[in-house]
Amino acid sequence: MIYLDHAATTRIRDEVFDAMLPYLKEEYGNPSSVYALGRSAHKALDRAREQVRAALGARAAREIFFTGCGTESDNWAIRGAALENAQKGRHIITTKVEHHAVLDSCKYLEKLGWEVTYLDVDSSGRVNAGDVAGAIRPDTVLISVMFANNEVGTINPIREIGELAREKGILFHVDAVQAVGHVPIDVENMGIDMLSLSGHKFYAPKGVGALYIRNGVTIEKFLQGGAQERRRRAGTENVASIVGMGEAITLAMQEMPEEMRRLGKLSAHMLSRLQKEIPGTRLNGHAEERLPGNVNISLPSVRSEAALFHLDLEGIACSSGSACTSGSVEASHVLLAMGRSEREARSALRFTMGRETTREEIDRTVDVLKIIAEQKEK
Ligand code: PLP
Repeated sequence: MIYLDHAATTRIRDEVFDAMLPYLKEEYGNPSSVYALGRSAHKALDRAREQVRAALGARAAREIFFTGCGTESDNWAIRGAALENAQKGRHIITTKVEHHAVLDSCKYLEKLGWEVTYLDVDSSGRVNAGDVAGAIRPDTVLISVMFANNEVGTINPIREIGELAREKGILFHVDAVQAVGHVPIDVENMGIDMLSLSGHKFYAPKGVGALYIRNGVTIEKFLQGGAQERRRRAGTENVASIVGMGEAITLAMQEMPEEMRRLGKLSAHMLSRLQKEIPGTRLNGHAEERLPGNVNISLPSVRSEAALFHLDLEGIACSSGSACTSGSVEASHVLLAMGRSEREARSALRFTMGRETTREEIDRTVDVLKIIAEQKEK
């Protein structure tokens, strides 16, 4: 199989699996227990928290809170910040191209009386910092803008928006689920107050994530219960997966410069072949400000669903949109917000490469795409 859907999820790394195993077997203690077995699990959490802190450039490990997934982190950040600041104001700014974890959290708050501004993006899927500034009102309490888009890979001007938010004293949340472990992030330098991440996007297991919450920022609890995570996120921690996520993030940081170079080259190679050999191929997303391993294209007169089916028969796994909408026939809200027609949006294919992707796999994929495009022309 040729796996080109790393934005949907990744295969757990061997080193990560090995690091997790003891915590599934002999080190099974509850980190809240006071005896040695519990203390050992607690120590493992401390180590992973430090690993995540280092990767984000956060000041203190206590600013990292483990969650069950990226979706939980997004829900907690948005709902928690809104509820905590309800007396100050009830206006939120976000964008039209966010993941549904963010969009649906905002829609939920709208039902409770909050007002949300969904900003437009340009034709590359990028939000303009000036538009964020223009949308700020006296009652704005939260700005939530994704670091990198999960469908088209476009990277937003996070530092600029962070500066703006800081100047105005507004909380700034960033959904960095697609960016963490793949491109450099520095929460201090970028003025980020809250940041969501998810382990399974960088070779850790599914079902574990984290929310960075800057020291001094208080948001309402999302889960009520025990005193875990400094009383802010109840529920016995998923120790083995958290250990895996810590290991995975450290490895990703070590390999990032080389991996960015390698994937950037592979993407450029794929795009240049496609544009030469299938006339009319259009890149969806920003030409430069994009995740290195993402190639999202629209092929002329090819329906994505039919192409996905054909690619699958050839053993090639990719996606037509975000993971959550693949399998459904709705046109992508991201591509429509970028000004693509329904037709173009319905012909988009997303290829996302990873650590094990080779040039041979990319060449084989382009060859299959050529056959698909030629068949359509007949
Ligand atoms: N945010 C973005 C940008 C994503 O791409 C995803 C997953 O695809 C999520 C949030 C949700 O993460 P999780 O699958 O861990 O719930």
